[in-house]
Amino acid sequence: MNELTSALAAALPDGRLLTDPDVVDSYARDRTFVPPGRPLGVVLARSRDDVVATMRWASEHRVPVVPRGAGTGLAGGATAVDGCVVLSLARMTAIRELSPQDEIAVVEPGVITADLDRAAREHGLMYAPDPSSYEISTIGGNLATNAGGLRCVKYGVTRDSALGLEVVLADGRVLNTGRRTMKGVTGYDLTGLFVGSEGTLGVITAATLRLRRAPRETATIAAEFTSLRDAAAAVSAIVAAGCQPSLLELMDRTTLQAIDDWKNIGLEPSTRAMLIAQAEGSADEMAALCGAASFVATSSTPEEAAELIGIRRLAYQAKERLGQCLVEDVCVPRSALPDMITTIEEVAARHGVMIATVAHAGDGNLHPVFVFDRGLAEPPEEVWAAADEVFRAALDLGGTLTGEHGVGLLKKRWLDLETGPVAAQLQRGIKQVFDPLNILNPGKAI
Ligand SMILES: Cc1cc2nc3c(=O)[nH]c(=O)nc-3n(C[C@H](O)[C@H](O)[C@H](O)COP(=O)(O)OP(=O)(O)OC[C@H]3O[C@@H](n4cnc5c(N)ncnc54)[C@H](O)[C@@H]3O)c2cc1C
Repeated sequence: MNELTSALAAALPDGRLLTDPDVVDSYARDRTFVPPGRPLGVVLARSRDDVVATMRWASEHRVPVVPRGAGTGLAGGATAVDGCVVLSLARMTAIRELSPQDEIAVVEPGVITADLDRAAREHGLMYAPDPSSYEISTIGGNLATNAGGLRCVKYGVTRDSALGLEVVLADGRVLNTGRRTMKGVTGYDLTGLFVGSEGTLGVITAATLRLRRAPRETATIAAEFTSLRDAAAAVSAIVAAGCQPSLLELMDRTTLQAIDDWKNIGLEPSTRAMLIAQAEGSADEMAALCGAASFVATSSTPEEAAELIGIRRLAYQAKERLGQCLVEDVCVPRSALPDMITTIEEVAARHGVMIATVAHAGDGNLHPVFVFDRGLAEPPEEVWAAADEVFRAALDLGGTLTGEHGVGLLKKRWLDLETGPVAAQLQRGIKQVFDPLNILNPGKAI
């Protein structure tokens, strides 16, 4: 340890600060290829006081702090910067309160998302936001990225479930935002501001979250199509018919092939796309709306439904088996989905790049995954060129660069295309108010 880290160790209980270079390196990356800087150390916080002590020390010595949950991020948000301290919240795992009467939970940031959902289900409730990573990501990371997920088409994104937060600010002060009530409009919405701020404004140390009644009966279908565009058209038909799906997911052939090669799901040679949909009530109407499908499977039991949805949840890991992945997260108005999908196919063919696409189709949120050689340090030029075209096409269709993963480091080069100079200046002003020394996750998100 040097003088700086010795001062931090002295401010914390024993064992909280790790400085062994091999251990520290294992906390330096998220799930992207983005090369990390070299941290001074890692704090494994176990309480709010640990976070306060770390931020006071960082503020005094002007050391950058990179907050970190489980490191499953896909934008480089938790990637370490040179000379920083990585502040891991993964060990703050208490569900402090779960109130069936008020339909809320108060949790620490290191709680694994699916663990909260399981705890809620014991009371007939659920925690709705369910990123595909929900078995491995943390609530703190979900809040900081405003994560989406499969059920968001009906229940909204993480922000729609966040009622209040406890946040440690850059100088170590503790801020409480929001409330325990379903409604409340006192003052500016600071909870909403912190959700999605990617660790650049404060460190979330607790959250009051909204729970919802778990649906009693749901129907699930998996429809196979010989054309990706037909599958995208079925998405609009299901929504327009008022089926109110709680899940509406689309996978292209490349994704299905990767899953089939790994798990042998019996993929037909003619299948170009699969749509998985779930709603309360009967499956018949949704199945009928997939008129162009070559085959529709309907689940009759919750176990069968979980199996169908499980195929979708395997998608990202299946693609990681093919090579390194640059994951995009564009979101377009739902009506533009067929055009966006067609553009992605054209771009892939023109640049000779493998793009495997899954979509939270009910939200118009697509994840074209650009697969490239594992041996390369970063994507080759043709991948960047193809990614650039896909981003621009999404914006031209009235969409956005990122629906749920955040900007991190990965999408900063395209930020100006969407934000515009006025919003960019105001965002820098907000950062300056909360973090005047620029020590919280510097260089990320804005
Ligand atoms: C297989 C797979 C599937 C995925 N599917 C989805 C999906 O469907 N939807 C989706 O939205 N994302 C998805 N993701 C991306 C990722 O899981 C989410 O972004 C998730 O919210 C990150 O949580 P984490 O705990 O891993 O956070 P990390 O990756 O550790 O951090 C993410 C960001 O949050 C900040 N942060 C973390 N904790 C705190 C805190 N307590 N206070 C302040 N800032 C903090 C970090 O600094 C960083 O900027 C997927 C990832 C994988 C690997």
